[in-house]
Amino acid sequence: MSSHDRIDIQEPTFGAGIWHFGRYVDRYATDGYGPPVDTLAAIDLAGQVGDLSVVDLTFPFDPPDLPVEEVRAALDRNGLRAIAVTPEIYTRRFVKGAFTNPDAGVRREAIELVSRAAEVARLLGCDYVKLWPGQDGWDYPFQVDHSEIWRFSVEGVRELASTFPDLRFAIEYKPREPRNTMVFSSAAKTLLAIDEIGLPNVGVLLDFGHSLYGGESPADAARLAMSRGRLFAIDVNDNHRGWDDDMIVGSVHLTETFEFFHALREARWEGVWQLDQFPFREDSVEAARAGIRVMKSIHRALGLLDHDALTAAQRAQDALAAQRVVQRALLSAMADQ
Ligand code: FE
Ligand code: FE
Repeated sequence: MSSHDRIDIQEPTFGAGIWHFGRYVDRYATDGYGPPVDTLAAIDLAGQVGDLSVVDLTFPFDPPDLPVEEVRAALDRNGLRAIAVTPEIYTRRFVKGAFTNPDAGVRREAIELVSRAAEVARLLGCDYVKLWPGQDGWDYPFQVDHSEIWRFSVEGVRELASTFPDLRFAIEYKPREPRNTMVFSSAAKTLLAIDEIGLPNVGVLLDFGHSLYGGESPADAARLAMSRGRLFAIDVNDNHRGWDDDMIVGSVHLTETFEFFHALREARWEGVWQLDQFPFREDSVEAARAGIRVMKSIHRALGLLDHDALTAAQRAQDALAAQRVVQRALLSAMADQ
């Protein structure tokens, strides 16, 4: 029996992006899929879930002049902590890019917005600032000088990370949307950029769904980031592998979700198991509970997994034996939920 077999490991901490509880707008329901939800109301909804301990807050708050003290009070009364702040470097003024905008003045505005978010992250005692440069990329062939926008991206993040050496910056990569291609589009490219940035406080936020529809194995992408000590955070959800559907955890790719958490467990990764679901047509509190219920089952399944049998199957690269071991643990844990 290897050292980590069948030890009852404490249940992980669960979190969610605060947008899980917000209002969704797309290019069809331009009037939104529900009424507006401001920052304090979203925190109160997150508090109703029951098993959430942390939230990732978008910045600026809604309304933008909402004092940090009021946010802190709302978190406190709901038993929540802000794990991260996500500056909105992807809204209208950044449609042509944040770090890579052709206008140097707009690139500066992006740095300033992230810097303001970083100050708020300090005040709230967050673990990291999340960077999701969704508008940094291109739509058409020949639209950009690839060397230049790569350099802009590396230099922008480097400037922030060196200005705030006490904070960590987590880059969330995504293949596309809203840009047809994002600069930080895969685990490997993001890790190469982090290598070029050359600072210890920049890492990856691995969104399981982004990894899936980017054609990666999320377990392998996690392994790659962890092997370099750069897996700062995760988001979990599910999709049909063609788009970032942000569905309930485990609803489509249950086995790969299990493999992903198994990879984290094997590497002794101890971060938060964080939801990034977009329940467009579902109740947001119930959708969060559903995602957490699945994650709790997966946690139990990790405890039930016959590690010796799995190791033997993997040594022989025996797909059928591995499936049997995995299904036994996973399906019996799911039956208990
Ligand atoms: Fe995400
Ligand atoms: Fe996403």
